Amino acid sequence: MYWEAVKECMNKEDLEQLQLEMLQSTLSRVYMNVPFYKRKFDDLGIDPDDFRSLDDLKKLPFTTKEDLRISYPYGMFAVPMREVVRVQASSGTTGMPTVVGYTKNDIKNWSNLVARVLTAGGVTQNDIVQIAFDYGLFTGAFGLHYGAERIGASVIPVSSGNTRQQVKLMQDFRTTALICTPTFALSIAETIAEMGINVNSFSLKYGLFGAEPWSEAVRQELQEKLKIVATDNYGLSEVMGPGVAGECIERNGLHINEDHFIVEVVDPETLESVPDGKTGELVITTLTKEAFPVIRFRTRDLTRIIPGPCSCGRTFARIGKVMGRTDDMIKVKGANVFPSQIEAVLCEIEGTAPHFQIVIDRKGAVDELTVLVEVSESIFFDQMKQQREFIDLIKIRLADELGVTVEVKLVDKKSLERFEGKTKRVIERRSL
Ligand SMILES: [Zn+2]
Repeated sequence: MYWEAVKECMNKEDLEQLQLEMLQSTLSRVYMNVPFYKRKFDDLGIDPDDFRSLDDLKKLPFTTKEDLRISYPYGMFAVPMREVVRVQASSGTTGMPTVVGYTKNDIKNWSNLVARVLTAGGVTQNDIVQIAFDYGLFTGAFGLHYGAERIGASVIPVSSGNTRQQVKLMQDFRTTALICTPTFALSIAETIAEMGINVNSFSLKYGLFGAEPWSEAVRQELQEKLKIVATDNYGLSEVMGPGVAGECIERNGLHINEDHFIVEVVDPETLESVPDGKTGELVITTLTKEAFPVIRFRTRDLTRIIPGPCSCGRTFARIGKVMGRTDDMIKVKGANVFPSQIEAVLCEIEGTAPHFQIVIDRKGAVDELTVLVEVSESIFFDQMKQQREFIDLIKIRLADELGVTVEVKLVDKKSLERFEGKTKRVIERRSL
């Protein structure tokens, strides 16, 4: 059930010592080999040789996606091209893609870390693994492919798309583990139903999904429809690709491979650390990457550190499922509120539909946030008292999650506007 028990279950003191040593060597390497970091460190008066404790991490500069783009294509590489054995790139949805490179060692570490994630999700050498990520510059498919081979599983590199073909292969090749985005898995599940195939005739046992945020509700749906144990895994090309973090079958947060990455969660506005359990922007520093190390990389992904140990025995810290992007953040009464937090709370309350809208207004000098919540078909109020109690329950749960009190209004089912594509959740009425 562990791929590398000695590492994955190591004690905190040993881990911190290891992290410190590897961070020191990473800092010297980037200072010597990457002009971007030499300039940044010099500007801030940072001497990598003075780095004595992990607390000093806070003094180091952040690296942003913009920094990487400016260095297109190879400006951030810390080794000469003759040592690079693979080049991949991020999707580049907002302009220029980010190009990343790997040395032989990087590829070895990468497949090893993905092997940990796969093992944690239940996959063994006896499994037949169907990889339905796009093979290409995007890191998802190759990362998981090499990891699955490393375990000794039988890999079917089917790539993405062609849903009916996926279903047929899944049946004929007796696939036991499906690897793709949760959205594609949902469409596979739908297609199986459309084709009138009984899912019990499949050999499927595990689903490892990633590359986009997905909710607990989607997990439940996938587990029921495909009869699988569905786990979440996380990674991004700029940091390595898949294998940065993954869920164990407890399915309660993603273990970070902390012997290769140091993660921080910061307030995206002040850039100060937030306490464990609080949502903020995930920041990652690589410890072992040779070709493309990054220092305090701002992922723009929102998540939190889950406090306390996991019952699986792994000691590596866990992050919660990624809740969205920092671009979605709303600042109200000095607190950072994310629509996905509200969605998560509403998902847990019986009787609310997944449709809601957030209205931000200013009363005097105070910001006021009102959540309009659609009630579902099943809920029916004949008394004002019942309705008030229901509103109070939602308010308490939201205040708990958000750290600020908000107003709640119930609206009739199907009364909120529906959007094709991206929903417009937030109505801004403040004249800022
Ligand atoms: Zn665990």
